[in-house]
Amino acid sequence: MKEINIFCEAIKDMPVVASKIKAGQKKIIGYLCSYAPEELIYAAGFHPMRLFSSKSEIVLAEQHLQAYCCSLVRGVLEDSLSGRLDFLDGTVFPHTCDSIQRLSDIWRMNGKYEFFADVVLPAKLNTQSARTYMKDVLTKFKKDLETAAGREITNADLQASIKKFNLIRKNLSKIYALQSQRPGIIKGADLYAIVKGSMVMDRDEVVDLLPAIVAKLEKVDVPQKNIKRIVVSGSICDSPDIYTAMEAAGGVIVGDDLCTGQRWFEGEILDDDNPINAITTRLLDRLICPAKHSTPTARGENMVSLAKKNRADGVIFMLLKFCDPHAFDYPYLKESLDKEGIKNMLIEMDDQQQNSGQLATRFETFIHMI
Ligand code: SF4
Ligand code: SF4
Repeated sequence: MKEINIFCEAIKDMPVVASKIKAGQKKIIGYLCSYAPEELIYAAGFHPMRLFSSKSEIVLAEQHLQAYCCSLVRGVLEDSLSGRLDFLDGTVFPHTCDSIQRLSDIWRMNGKYEFFADVVLPAKLNTQSARTYMKDVLTKFKKDLETAAGREITNADLQASIKKFNLIRKNLSKIYALQSQRPGIIKGADLYAIVKGSMVMDRDEVVDLLPAIVAKLEKVDVPQKNIKRIVVSGSICDSPDIYTAMEAAGGVIVGDDLCTGQRWFEGEILDDDNPINAITTRLLDRLICPAKHSTPTARGENMVSLAKKNRADGVIFMLLKFCDPHAFDYPYLKESLDKEGIKNMLIEMDDQQQNSGQLATRFETFIHMI
């Protein structure tokens, strides 16, 4: 499908995406975590761009980050130090996992880009004080952006930005819903390209392309025999080959709990005369990641409900090596699924090293078992 190909091509070359944005006179603000308030960045007239590692060999980052930090954080630092991110005009670091917080310190001290902000969001999300604090933090971030942009961000700017991001979320949700209804209408690698592309490409282009993809997918039909419905869970997955290997083994992805998936786009921002209130509500209510806290059982309940809602035959946990928040959560999530009789398996990934042959064998074994 030509619209999907546009996403697939775009994500192969971030500097090309960046040069197109720059040609439109927009400054680019990078971010690493799905708690980054993109709507505010966009409303200020900047282009929010999620950063992924180019997976180059780690050389310069070795001097700053230990080998036991996750490959995402190490890879992005390597890209920055080696000049591969020189198209950035600034970066935003939401306060989440330890690795991102340490990266933020190193980033600030290296001072390579014009704009820098730490957005110190609350760690605990289910209290009234967290809501008040979150609103204050977002208001301060808005002021920082206004200073950088040299202009006021009006409520109309924010409402227009929210509307655009809601449209993207709504269409991505529709694509996921269609894939869950008729698994296999879109390849996992293409689904991933659409989500990643939506995080990095010109949002006007994304808003134009997604409804066309939805309309075409609504008409696609595929045989539904011998399909094993798989839900994947983890921090991010930036390796489309993994999806291809799962499909080759007979699995089809019908849902995910990933920051390169539903955890990023799930939940619309509601209409509110005070847009900061509305953004706060979404950040507090969205699917939680293990670097944040609400009730002690929220993540397990979400996981079970995601698996049941998508009638998953199995769940595959895909953990980036040295990702502490997800590794700490794994035993409890596994137990929640085991109690419900939902089969699951764990794989560990690393942006710099993939053993695709071994992974393919493990997927085959798991998918035959479920
Ligand atoms: S898993 Fe959590 S900390 Fe990591 S990028 Fe996603 S939201 Fe941020
Ligand atoms: S949540 Fe995990 S994968 Fe994401 S940046 Fe933190 S340690 Fe790395």
